[in-house]
Amino acid sequence: MATSGSKCRACKAPAVIDLPRHNANFCAEHLLQLCRRQVEKAIDDYEMFSKDDRLLVAVSGGKDSLAVWDMLVEAGYQADGFYVGLGIGDYSDESGDYVRRFADERGLTLVTVDLRDDYGYDIPTAAKVTKRVPCSACGMSKRHLFDKAARDGGYDAVVTGHNLDDEAAVLLGNVLRWDIEYLARQLPVLPARNGFPKKCKPLVRLTERETAAWCLIRGIDYLVEECPIAAGNRHLYYKDTLNSLEQKSPSSKSAFYLNFIDNMAPLLADQSAAAAGELNDCERCGSPTTNELCAFCRLVEKSSAHEPVPVELVLGKRGRS
Ligand code: SF4
Ligand SMILES: [Zn+2]
Ligand SMILES: [Zn+2]
Repeated sequence: MATSGSKCRACKAPAVIDLPRHNANFCAEHLLQLCRRQVEKAIDDYEMFSKDDRLLVAVSGGKDSLAVWDMLVEAGYQADGFYVGLGIGDYSDESGDYVRRFADERGLTLVTVDLRDDYGYDIPTAAKVTKRVPCSACGMSKRHLFDKAARDGGYDAVVTGHNLDDEAAVLLGNVLRWDIEYLARQLPVLPARNGFPKKCKPLVRLTERETAAWCLIRGIDYLVEECPIAAGNRHLYYKDTLNSLEQKSPSSKSAFYLNFIDNMAPLLADQSAAAAGELNDCERCGSPTTNELCAFCRLVEKSSAHEPVPVELVLGKRGRS
């Protein structure tokens, strides 16, 4: 990852990674230090949580969610994992194996839900039945289950592994459409409200190259393969576009996202508050909703009555955008 012969900026030992956005190279130990500092800064600057809080970390088996769980535990936070089996063919089987191995090896608490076993459906079936794009059915299911697990388990906050590349790509998509409602909610912390738990993204100051290096150095075995449904979606295209910019102009990606958070998001705060209307309890599951039945219960009702649909049938539908 580093140019041969390059030296760590901090200790002059041989570097293992070059980070043009910091205009520096780092050895393994100082790269870990940089990651720890950036995560602590995000937690402090955005007032995410303290060591007294109980955290539920949403883990997928990929590098970012396992890295953030590892970083929080290493730093002394009380962090349990939460994994949802989505039923997306081999990808889901493998991702579950990685998560369980990570938790077992470290003696960590992992809460799991399986859509097919616990709710009688999976993401390919939900996508087919509801004619939603798979990522929309998936995102809605995961959000509902994270919220429910946090409420049921009495956790103070849900933590996700979204990194700087993810957030900058989502921001680019929202800016290209000038989607003010989404822009107003694109924050590193969403406070608890109306029965929804607080949501925090401690990795927003780290790139995916940095979290991959963290995993490599810390010996974290993660699933490298992406979800097959993600292939070819706009989110990946936005990431590539930002990487091209970053190559020509290092640190433009972090400036784009972090300056949005500092300079622009405060101006949109009223929009965010306006979007938070009055909610009632879902008649079936008690979750906050604007209808009698929440969107998740309606999805379960329709999808669980249908024969399972193999993932191949929904590949190629536009994914996460
Ligand atoms: S790419 Fe889409 S379907 Fe796959 S895990 Fe992510 S949100 Fe779910
Ligand atoms: Zn060093
Ligand atoms: Zn419900």
